[in-house]
Amino acid sequence: MNSLTRRKFLVSTSLLSAAACLAPRSLFAESENIVLTARKRAETAEIAVQTLRGNITALIGSGGNIAVLTGPDGKLIIDSGYATSRARITDALAKLGPDPIKHLINTHWHFDHCDGNEWMHEDGAHILAHENTKKHLATSTRVEGWNFTFPPSPAGAIPGEVFPDEKTLHLNGATIALKYYGPSHTDGDVSAYFTEADVLHCGDTWWNGHYPFIDYSTGGNIKGMITAAESNLAKATEKTIVIPGHGKIGGKAELTEYRDMLVTIYDRVAALKKDGKSLDEIIAAKPTAAYDSKWAGSFITGDVFAKLVYDGA
Ligand SMILES: [Zn+2]
Repeated sequence: MNSLTRRKFLVSTSLLSAAACLAPRSLFAESENIVLTARKRAETAEIAVQTLRGNITALIGSGGNIAVLTGPDGKLIIDSGYATSRARITDALAKLGPDPIKHLINTHWHFDHCDGNEWMHEDGAHILAHENTKKHLATSTRVEGWNFTFPPSPAGAIPGEVFPDEKTLHLNGATIALKYYGPSHTDGDVSAYFTEADVLHCGDTWWNGHYPFIDYSTGGNIKGMITAAESNLAKATEKTIVIPGHGKIGGKAELTEYRDMLVTIYDRVAALKKDGKSLDEIIAAKPTAAYDSKWAGSFITGDVFAKLVYDGA
C-alpha cells in the first residue's frame, strides 16, 4: 500500500468507525435486536412481589416495575410489563386478592411498560395515559436507539382516556395524583403519586442503579431527564417510597445519587462538546469512568450513556 492509498484507507476506516459509532444499531452489542431479545427473556422471567405500604405492592421482573393498588374498587395497576409475563403476573395479582383489574395507568409508551396492555384491557382495565403515550401506541413508531419500528398497537392496548398535564383519581381509599413531567425519557412520561401512603412511581425518569435509556426518537432528552430527576427529588421526603422504572425500590437518598450522577456526566460531556470535541473524542475521554462500576451494570454501558448525553448536550 503506498502512502496515499494508505492515508485514504485510514481516513475511510476512521469515517467508518465514526459512522458505526453514530449508527443506532451499534448502541447495543447484542447480536439480536434488543427489543426481540428483551421479549424473549421475559418469557422465563420470575416476578417478585414486594409489599410497599398499605394496599400498595410492587411486581418486579417483567420489564418496567409494576405497582398495584388493591381494594373494593378493583385493582389499579401502573404499567403492564411484557405480554409474555401474562401468566406470572396473573398469578401474582391473584395472591394480592380477588378484586378484578379495573384501572391501568401507563407511565409512558415503551413496550416494556405497555406490552401487557391488551390482556389487562381484556381482563377489564380502563387504560389511562398521557396524550403522547396514546399517540405513539396508536401509530407505527420507530426508536432509533433500539433500531426497531413498533407497529401500531391492537385497539385494546390503546389508552381509552388521556390527559395533557395532570389527573387525580380517588380509588380504594387512596388519592392517586398523575402528573406529566414534560419531555424527559420520552415525550409522554407521567408520575403516579399515592398521596396518603406517600409512594411515588417515577416510570423511566428514574433508573435506580443503572444508566437510563433516553428515547430521543419520541421526544426524550437529557436535559428533560435532569429536570424530571429534580422534580422527583422535590416530591420526595425521607419517608417517601420511590418506585423507579427499572432497578430496586428506593427513596430520596438513591434519587439524590442518581440526580448527581446525571448532572456530573452532563456537565462533563457538555463542556467537551462546547470545546468542539467530536462524539468519538468525547467517548474516548471516558466522561462516565468514575460511575461505570455502579451504573453500567445493565444494557447501557458508559459509552452508550455518553452518546445519549452528547445527543442532547
Ligand atoms: Zn422506557
